[in-house]
Amino acid sequence: MGIVIKTGDITKEEACAIVNAANSSCMGGGGVDGAIHRAGGPQMLEECKRIRREALPDGLPTGQAVATTAGKMPARYVIHTVGPIWGRCGSEEECDRLLSDAYLNSLELAHKLDCRSIAFPAISTGIYGFPKERAARIAWQTVNEWLKTHPEMEVRFVFHSDRDREIFDRAVREEKP
Ligand code: ADP
Repeated sequence: MGIVIKTGDITKEEACAIVNAANSSCMGGGGVDGAIHRAGGPQMLEECKRIRREALPDGLPTGQAVATTAGKMPARYVIHTVGPIWGRCGSEEECDRLLSDAYLNSLELAHKLDCRSIAFPAISTGIYGFPKERAARIAWQTVNEWLKTHPEMEVRFVFHSDRDREIFDRAVREEKP
């Protein structure tokens, strides 16, 4: 169903799945992660703890994704993924690849959960320091490529500020079909 680019608070999105830019602990943190855990409530945290205990004793690897309930939020699921920390990937290209993986694995998981809509925050562009324009191009390319084989999915990019949305818009303008 295509792509929507908007400004807003992702915790309020009425989508089947919202994506959390989590850290490998999957137990909450700052930025969008903190906002999602606050809005989701204790049930979501309990599921995160159970997943850690049963499946991920060493934490969620960078680029991978897991799903929990969205608790008290309007979405049905939260997909927790871990973006790369800029400057800590070995090379810039490796960081690009890991960011693309975070988008791709989130999309695949949403598809497995029978979702027809998914909302992404700007993964890695806050505390993790990924350059915003570069991240925008990777997110855009990864999502567009995936949508070619999954045209039924609506993908929303939700920015916390108009400024961040404008940076994204500008960065992907040349790439828009
Ligand atoms: P990371 O650690 O992956 O960099 P951050 O949470 O620090 O994650 O930042 C990712 C992006 O999420 C930033 O652009 C930040 O402005 C944005 N953000 C923070 N809170 C929200 C929210 N409630 N809704 C949507 N985006 C948000």
